[in-house]
Amino acid sequence: MTNEPTSATGRCLCGAVRFETTGPAFRVIACHCESCRRHTGAPMAALTVFPEEQVAWSGEARRRYESKPGVARAFCPECGASLTWETTHPHYGAICAIHVSSFDNPDAQKPSAHSFYPEKLCWFDAADDLPRYETFVADGGLVRHGPDDSG
Ligand SMILES: [Zn+2]
Ligand SMILES: [Zn+2]
Repeated sequence: MTNEPTSATGRCLCGAVRFETTGPAFRVIACHCESCRRHTGAPMAALTVFPEEQVAWSGEARRRYESKPGVARAFCPECGASLTWETTHPHYGAICAIHVSSFDNPDAQKPSAHSFYPEKLCWFDAADDLPRYETFVADGGLVRHGPDDSG
């Protein structure tokens, strides 16, 4: 469990889709996978991972795109802003991972690890000392701590 606030609000770019989260998240991760890059258009995505029942949506319904079987990525049907990565995990149940940048106070959503680090863009890394994992953090596979300074 991370120690971000016990409730938080956020929205898409145009404000048509809004959400409020309650209770602690599973974790906040910085993800380097190709799928996150294509969904966001950014070199890395940071997401706060919640049990689905801790996320309440309001306003316009988010639209879901099934990026692979059992995995959906949601976005605003009005402005197209990326919002989530969603799936049902065999152990954790229904999960809703919300892009950190969609929160009203993204500074409060501080990552504790990096996932899919081997898919990282060669010209990009973060300056933190956090652990970097091969795939999902929950699957183990620690690659290193801190940025790859091998050049
Ligand atoms: Zn919108
Ligand atoms: Zn990803």
